[in-house]
Amino acid sequence: MAIRLRLGPFAEAAADDPLGREYVGWFPRMTEAEAWESGRGMWKLGGRARRERFAFVVGGGNVCAIAEIVDITDRKDRSALVGGLLATGHPVYDAWIGKPDPFANTSRNPVAYEALPEEAPYLKRQCYCGCGEFTTSGDFLPGHDVRALQDRVRLFFGSSAKDFLDWFDTTFADNGAGAAPLYELAELAKRRGDLTGAEDLWNRAAALGSAKAMASLGVLHTIFGKDPQDGEMWYRRGAEAGDVTAMTGLGAMLSARSDIEGESWLIRAADTGSAEAMFTLAEILHSRGDHAEARSWFLRAADAGHVRAMVSLGDLILKRGDEREAVDWYTQAAGHGDTRAMFRLGNYYLKRGSEERARGWFLQAAEHDHPGAMYALGLMRRRAGDQEAAQSWWRRAADLGHHQAIDGLKGLSA
Ligand SMILES: [Zn+2]
Repeated sequence: MAIRLRLGPFAEAAADDPLGREYVGWFPRMTEAEAWESGRGMWKLGGRARRERFAFVVGGGNVCAIAEIVDITDRKDRSALVGGLLATGHPVYDAWIGKPDPFANTSRNPVAYEALPEEAPYLKRQCYCGCGEFTTSGDFLPGHDVRALQDRVRLFFGSSAKDFLDWFDTTFADNGAGAAPLYELAELAKRRGDLTGAEDLWNRAAALGSAKAMASLGVLHTIFGKDPQDGEMWYRRGAEAGDVTAMTGLGAMLSARSDIEGESWLIRAADTGSAEAMFTLAEILHSRGDHAEARSWFLRAADAGHVRAMVSLGDLILKRGDEREAVDWYTQAAGHGDTRAMFRLGNYYLKRGSEERARGWFLQAAEHDHPGAMYALGLMRRRAGDQEAAQSWWRRAADLGHHQAIDGLKGLSA
């Protein structure tokens, strides 16, 4: 989160201004240093301000200074920020200086807080060792990672590093205690983005009979495209060992090439509760024209929380003419962040003449980079006579490759 301080109109400062300023507020063409001096105090700030790293001074609707906060000084119930101005080359500065107020909202409060994507690498985080102090780079304060390891060796191994190493090597050795800890390590490696390390550990766990590791190898080889034949082999081994993910993967793979064996695996996985298997079955039945069966599987998958199934179900129900039920499913899917559902809701309300509700859904979908929603918002703006806003929506949609938006832009500029 960063803090935004909005400058008021230009005015002389009070005679006893705590910062010794002659003026406060905004005037055109002020320098960044002037904006910072004018904007860094004196504000009523809550405890929240002390957790922020960056301060934005906004004047005339635009960002006119950005500083990194180093301290906050207080005078009675008012506070001033102490900080250093950012300059060219700093990603937060480069992204926002001179740009329209990114904190713009309906609140009249000049002090606002907002999380900006560019500040993510700089966020203060609590040190992972649990000491309660804050770090701005990495998970630990310097030295705290080693100390945290030593604490555990002391707690569980009486400070004997030798005992710890013996235990570790036995637990994770090739022919050691078992597949489960190896599988856990593989999942940790995957979460770190280390797929090579994860693959090695999955292989070791699979060799010890872990069905979950076989399924993960199946996913790695098919979805991450390493080797589909190996993928099928691992899915089959995992499925035969009883893993639901592997059954679903194998079922989908076989069904994709019209192998009838695929459906029996999908049915087995669905009966074990796999919503993905239910959804895949429904799609197969639907593409075969068996709409009644497809609907009942979409319904089971949607009831099990499968979001894309909710949208497909909504589509089928809408075709049958039951608008209210379809809208219920779309709304539920949109609540889970599905942009296609948001877009469908936008179109639905637009057709019924509720422009405000339509706009709300299109805006939500556009926020998630749905080009069709951007195009629709552009159309709505154009109909309202605001060519400039229409153009900016269509430009965003065109940047995402939306053909009608590209054509629309040509029409606007012609
Ligand atoms: Zn620490």
